[in-house]
Amino acid sequence: MRLDVVTIFPDYLRVLDLSLIGKAAGTGLIDLVVHDLRDWTHDRHRTVDDTPLGGGAGMVMRPDVWGEALDTVLDLPADPTAAREAVTARRGTGTRQVLVVPTPAGELFTQRTAEDLAHADQVVFACGRYEGIDARVPEHYRELGVEVRELSIGDYVLNGGEAAALVIIEAVARLRPGVLGNPGSVVEESHSEAGLLEYPVHTRPVAWRGHDLAVTWPGLLSGDHPRIARERREQAIARTVARRPDMVARLEAQRLGAGDRAA
Ligand code: SAM
Repeated sequence: MRLDVVTIFPDYLRVLDLSLIGKAAGTGLIDLVVHDLRDWTHDRHRTVDDTPLGGGAGMVMRPDVWGEALDTVLDLPADPTAAREAVTARRGTGTRQVLVVPTPAGELFTQRTAEDLAHADQVVFACGRYEGIDARVPEHYRELGVEVRELSIGDYVLNGGEAAALVIIEAVARLRPGVLGNPGSVVEESHSEAGLLEYPVHTRPVAWRGHDLAVTWPGLLSGDHPRIARERREQAIARTVARRPDMVARLEAQRLGAGDRAA
């Protein structure tokens, strides 16, 4: 899988050199390239922004600079007809390219989105700053037939798309085969297919600062694996009910939908 990040702060992405994602990039499981957007400017000041049309606070990132950068990174000609043909031809060969534009005004990024993006051949991140990227940029690439995802990592506003790209990259890359040491780690997690939060996890010592698992959760130490699985599931349900009523409502809606289909 190839990951490209276009940003005005390439150093921001250097943390990706650390931990399992860095190791995956080092061993070729993931091909990660970070690009400086200013490399596609043509003026002495390497300008990437301008004032908002219609007035208002802040600055907006220029579509012409982004267009040149994204054409290069997506490997598309500047001519729209030729670009459309190139996109169609690429799709015909089964190659999946996704342009991710992080924005607080996007669809919410979830584990389902991560699972979907983990199947792409190339994911390109366009990291906005200031008031964001001129809205014609995602529109243009969508018109060319490129798969464009405008994604929000949560209902709050960051200063730039880099932190969002880091979040998305980490969530996606760990799902790729070979990135995690133990592939079982991603199966039972919070937000996996079951739609529940994960049960609470514990390790040794069994008794710690007055919290004795032999007293509070004897089943966990029983060695009886069906019982452990059952009790863990109960804990996962209790946790989800207490912390995430929205997830419970979603599960309930799914159950009702399945009932309707069966009827
Ligand atoms: N004016 C924009 C709005 O209100 O929708 C906010 C722009 S924000 C200050 C600058 C950049 O940060 C955005 O272009 C986007 O790349 C990134 N960003 C901010 N919050 C984000 C979020 N919740 N999810 C993803 N990206 C975000």
